[in-house]
Amino acid sequence: MNYEVTYSLGIDIGASQVRFILADSRNGNLAINDNRVSKDICLSPSYSQFDINDYPALKSLPQKEIFHSYIIFKLKEYLEKSHVSLEQIDSIGISLAGRILQGGIFICSNLPLKYTSQFGSFSGVDLLNPIQEAFPGKKIVIENDGVCAGIAQAAYYEYLGIDPLKTFYITHSTGIGGGGPQRDIDEIGHTIIGNVFPGLKMRCGCGAIGCIESTTSGTGIKNLTNKILQLFCTDKALFGELNGYEFLRTQHRYTLGQLVEKSPLLREYKSGKVIEPKRVFELAGAFYLSGGGDEFAYYIVNSAAERFAALLVSLANIHGIERFGIGGSVSSKNPFFLDIVNKYIQQIRADVNHSFSPDITVELSPFGEYINDYGALFLTIDNPDTRKEWIKYFIEHVKQ
Ligand SMILES: [Zn+2]
Repeated sequence: MNYEVTYSLGIDIGASQVRFILADSRNGNLAINDNRVSKDICLSPSYSQFDINDYPALKSLPQKEIFHSYIIFKLKEYLEKSHVSLEQIDSIGISLAGRILQGGIFICSNLPLKYTSQFGSFSGVDLLNPIQEAFPGKKIVIENDGVCAGIAQAAYYEYLGIDPLKTFYITHSTGIGGGGPQRDIDEIGHTIIGNVFPGLKMRCGCGAIGCIESTTSGTGIKNLTNKILQLFCTDKALFGELNGYEFLRTQHRYTLGQLVEKSPLLREYKSGKVIEPKRVFELAGAFYLSGGGDEFAYYIVNSAAERFAALLVSLANIHGIERFGIGGSVSSKNPFFLDIVNKYIQQIRADVNHSFSPDITVELSPFGEYINDYGALFLTIDNPDTRKEWIKYFIEHVKQ
């Protein structure tokens, strides 16, 4: 590392990992090195490989202090390994997969309760204040990860001459989330969207039935596909009802029983495999692009796109959004999905009064795979000229 350079530091705390990122404060040039990812403590216990015995320094602490102490420990370790001194850090932006309350307290339904403290009626964690104490004098900001990405993306769009307040970021990955520069909406994956047969009882991680995340995220598509196949194999009566429901809903386009019968996914399911979303998209993409693949897989993806379109149009109508940048592995690895989403958006909008509902553009987020890095970093970059400098540098040197 260059000892004369000062850095902005980003921390991205997700369900499955914690990542650190350094960027040259002048132009946002990312300093990516391979020791930046830690997977042993994170927000979701199903991913966590945390063993307190690996951290003697944390062992004697009360459990409520472990989460922030771990992050501070890892951060110091990262800076040391990167040969960056504390004096070289200008600011710290923390992007976190949870809801941020007043005072920087965060709540996250996935985080084990033992790590949390009681704040009023919420069980949460104060990460901001302990980090502020450990790094005195530094500017430190914490925000929901979808909102972080929305803020960074809005700066990019502003650079292109687009009104940043009319833009919104959505991540379409194992879950669905998002946010925009107005910072007033985040957990959009828990929007309840119909068009799914009620008998399937698709339950979301939050407990509700019918959240778009439960049917349309990577995990949702996986659960929905396997549930339909299971029903086909084990409950003919209920499958018959599903078949009738879908026949009516799709205006006679799909006879689900016939699609499942000839689908390779049925054979794979019967051989004991759990059908993964990657496989569904692979077959659906082939069907969409060339008529090959499998129509049942396409039906799954097509109906997911219809729900996704309904979510976007609702957000646009309620919130005045005109441009959505989509990130996350599901959409970015399968861009044809957004083609279908756009088709449904046009269909929904065909009959409405256009002065009420302006044009909607849906595209992959311009920051691509770097969206979460810049999401954390842009939190602390308030100067409009610095923002422009960073975006310019990204377009000229980083973006392919
Ligand atoms: Zn939910």
